[in-house]
Amino acid sequence: MKFSNLLLLISCTLFYTSCQQNTDSKTGGNNLEQSPKFAIAIHGGAGTILKQNMLPETEQAYRSTLDSALTIGEKILSEEGTSTEAVIAVIKFMEDSPLFNAGKGAVFNAKGENELDASIMDGKTQNAGAISGVRNIKHPIEAAYAVMNQSEHVLLSGAGAESFALSVGLDTIDPSYFFTQRRYDALLKVQESEKTGSIPSNPDYKYGTVGCVAMDINGDLAAGTSTGGMTNKRFNRVGDSPIIGAGTYADNNSVAVSCTGHGEYFIRYAVAYDIAARMTYGKVSLKTACEDLVNDKLVQKGGSGGLIALDKSGNIEMPFNTEGMYRASSVSGKRFIGIYKDE
Ligand code: ASP
Repeated sequence: MKFSNLLLLISCTLFYTSCQQNTDSKTGGNNLEQSPKFAIAIHGGAGTILKQNMLPETEQAYRSTLDSALTIGEKILSEEGTSTEAVIAVIKFMEDSPLFNAGKGAVFNAKGENELDASIMDGKTQNAGAISGVRNIKHPIEAAYAVMNQSEHVLLSGAGAESFALSVGLDTIDPSYFFTQRRYDALLKVQESEKTGSIPSNPDYKYGTVGCVAMDINGDLAAGTSTGGMTNKRFNRVGDSPIIGAGTYADNNSVAVSCTGHGEYFIRYAVAYDIAARMTYGKVSLKTACEDLVNDKLVQKGGSGGLIALDKSGNIEMPFNTEGMYRASSVSGKRFIGIYKDE
């Protein structure tokens, strides 16, 4: 091949790759002309979230809580805080909101108890921490962070996780703190429909997990996820949220991911890590990796849900295969808050 033809081929390939990476998408993709200083994305769960089932004041409450969570993250990142700090602060704030299925507002298991799961991963060091099945820790994400920073382990569960949290001085609380009437009613409704074999009238009883991915001004990525799991889950069931590689993953060389949805599928298909693997080994763009996994593979397998992903260049994707996903992002001053599919 002539040298001039070779040059032309290289420039076309580079141009095509950059177009692929910068494409705007319905999934919340952002179009970056240059690398942003920092970037952040948040989710508050995916599910059958339809405008016609939502009261205007409820929708407003979700939007304004997402907006406040985003502001918390943006402030930390703009003041040179780390991505890990931003992820923890955002998730703590959402754990305090009864709107979401994490911390206060967590769903109930089949025994009528709240069992909480959370995880965090630092993309620079690839250190990670997680807890599962805890009942008395006010902010599960802080306990996950403590496991990462103050123990030699990655995942602690149940009583062991609770006594570890106590030993490192985290806020513990009576389990009754996590009671909310709305989530309890949802449990009763699901149990009733299981008995009668009917389908619950509003099937959006399962989801509402929270998650955050961030890139700080040093280009370091982090991801975190916190949840009460799924309504009516068996007691001691562990979902994807505290499983590194399934519900949460971060690697500075590729991407930070936090997932939400039917956890068993996200565990089986190692969804969070698969996004990173497709990008690293398959050399595909963030958008392609997200679309192929969430809207093709997971749909084929029957796994409903979505995820937020932020790559090392600050591109964000927020795909989901459900009716809606509470989500928000901010990159280079461009903010987005959405709930439904067509936003
Ligand atoms: N993935 C969570 C779980 O299976 C639930 C959710 O995201 O809503 O525990």
